[in-house]
Amino acid sequence: MSEVLRNDIFRFTADLPVQQGFYRLCKFKPDNPQFYLPNLLVSETQLDYRLPAYFADFVVSTDLFNSIEDGDIGIVNNGNMIRVILSRRANHNTVLVTERCNNNCLFCSQPPKTGNDDWLLNQSALAIASFSLNGVVGVSGGEPLLYGEDFLQFLDFIIENSPETALHVLTNGRKFADVSFTQQMKERSEKLKITFGIPLYSSRSSVHDYLVGSEGAFDETVRGLINAGNSGINIELRIIPTLANYMELDKIIEFAGRVFSNINQISLMGLESIGWARKNWPSIFIEYDSYSEKILSAIGTAQRSGIPLTIFNYPLCHLPERAWGFATQSISDWKNYYPKECDECTQKSSCAGYFSSSKGRFHQPPRPIL
Ligand code: SF4
Repeated sequence: MSEVLRNDIFRFTADLPVQQGFYRLCKFKPDNPQFYLPNLLVSETQLDYRLPAYFADFVVSTDLFNSIEDGDIGIVNNGNMIRVILSRRANHNTVLVTERCNNNCLFCSQPPKTGNDDWLLNQSALAIASFSLNGVVGVSGGEPLLYGEDFLQFLDFIIENSPETALHVLTNGRKFADVSFTQQMKERSEKLKITFGIPLYSSRSSVHDYLVGSEGAFDETVRGLINAGNSGINIELRIIPTLANYMELDKIIEFAGRVFSNINQISLMGLESIGWARKNWPSIFIEYDSYSEKILSAIGTAQRSGIPLTIFNYPLCHLPERAWGFATQSISDWKNYYPKECDECTQKSSCAGYFSSSKGRFHQPPRPIL
């Protein structure tokens, strides 16, 4: 694995294995002993005093201590490993609420599982409330809206316990085909800042359904986008260019501009080479340079439609210069890296760089801009 900007996984020593689960990570004595999650004391050195009762346990790790802020949230696995999932130092924070999904996207980064994992939704609610961020937390899956009514209750909990936290929910949008559900979501979205990132990969059902591996998905997603937009729910429309759809980027945007309401942003997203994308790479990936004109055309169509467009996950040196102003540093710091060649590049400070998973056959070499 390549060097990432912010490590999120740490090993620690502890007298006994720490019980698996979500914890609030504490560097100091908590101000208020009432918390949503158990408190885990993170220490640089072994304790020479008895652990106070307001801590569930303690771990010793200088690296972890130096990498977190008091009140960050972590998940302990295997008794001696912790993953920091909500960090005040991170450029993005996301909770995974389920691994179940009703799509099977060819490039899925988190291939779906079928087992019941409802506990993830409950623990994520507690984690968000405990973290209490005055900012945005992402909610991803799987498909979060498969929870239906339980997801609405999850939102109610956030509204009550962490109203200053805005949510960005990644969903395939199919659940919004249900008008009653959409109406209930609209009521929550009037109390909480919430945006739904919904992918539409084509203006043709055959192409969209092929890419998401589910017949009938296009029909539900389009009806969902119409319902959600007409209800005033905030939508970010996501498009991943692949071999199957790169020729029609401008058509998808034109379709969105004409048919949907309340699209606040269109995001063109570069593929991440993990999960099923790795397996299907030869049949889905297309070199960025080979569709530069299509990207420029998509930008033009978005501008004519009056919808802001942002480009995610592309190294600037593989985009036409006229598109640079639309690109953003989008890759989460725990999986973001810059090869050493980037050190001499004048655009590094504004470039997204690479996913750490892209090394090897998934890598398009950097071309420093001098
Ligand atoms: S050389 Fe590196 S920093 Fe420069 S544009 Fe390419 S990826 Fe970005």
